[in-house]
Amino acid sequence: MYSIGEARKRLPQDYVDYLYRAFTPKFGDAVLQAAARPLPSSLRVNTLKSDVHAVMASLRSCGLKFQRVPWSKEALLLDAPREKCLRSMAEYDRGQIYLQSLSSMVPPLLLPLAPGQNILDLCAAPGSKTTQMASLMQNQGSITANEVDILRLERLQYNIGKQGSTIVGTMNMDGTKVGRLSENTFDAVLVDAPCSGEGRFRLDEPKSYRSWRPPLVQKMARLQKRLLASGLDAVKPGGHVLYSTCTVNTAENEAVIAALLKARDDVELLPARLTGLKVTAGLTQTDEERWPSALKLAMRIWPTPNMEGFFCCLLRKRA
Ligand code: SAM
Repeated sequence: MYSIGEARKRLPQDYVDYLYRAFTPKFGDAVLQAAARPLPSSLRVNTLKSDVHAVMASLRSCGLKFQRVPWSKEALLLDAPREKCLRSMAEYDRGQIYLQSLSSMVPPLLLPLAPGQNILDLCAAPGSKTTQMASLMQNQGSITANEVDILRLERLQYNIGKQGSTIVGTMNMDGTKVGRLSENTFDAVLVDAPCSGEGRFRLDEPKSYRSWRPPLVQKMARLQKRLLASGLDAVKPGGHVLYSTCTVNTAENEAVIAALLKARDDVELLPARLTGLKVTAGLTQTDEERWPSALKLAMRIWPTPNMEGFFCCLLRKRA
């Protein structure tokens, strides 16, 4: 565990400056405080292969301390980083649990998924959310999981097999091109976009922030706009698109949505909220004035001791 001062020194200076320029000092401090502590492990119980009570009993018998969270029946939060221990459990080998950060579990829960639907996961590797969606759909229907990076596609396929997500087929395409090829096809689309990853910066993992540079943010924002447009083309009229990132800056979040709303009139925002998950209406007054008021419906999860920073926005293509 480090101090805020240490976080200020170690994280990229341009990022720290941005935080205090764009948000209130209170938020800047909170974000640095979260980065200064290691993230406790969390897992999702794979309901295709087990149930939460069986997994809880097993964790107890291994002497592991954990708690449940009010917004997901399948999520368990450990008291500290316990990855090594969790990976040595038989439940891990059998694909009955999946190690996933709490924030990463949120986007699929915001989509109105149901068994039998036809879903597209546009940026899918390593498959945390693909396999979560297969469980939520009780392995009924169909999920197309797309990934552009061939090595990451292999990891995705491995995880799909291990989790027993039998309704998933994979695809290796540039996601920006999928919409044009599969127009108005899917009931729902998840665009869990590649991003600069600021929500995952932790001092105990220098890898998490080492390659961050201001131009990376702009590059990601350009790609994200194209991926989101592609996702919207691919969804059926009346269908839902969930856009998410694990980053903090507004260029990859609010600005991407604002640009989309300006460019097309067939899209509306719906509230992205989960019962039991407290989210901060985190933008400063100035920021709120700059963005279309509909953006208040989006969800910002600020980095906290237990959660990575995330942004989620639920959209519907008008029928
Ligand atoms: N949804 C994944 C999960 O929950 O496990 C995480 C997705 S990660 C945030 C973004 C993914 O998008 C990366 O695997 C990256 O390789 C992939 N990606 C990057 N550019 C892409 C593109 N043009 N088309 C499709 N996928 C892309």
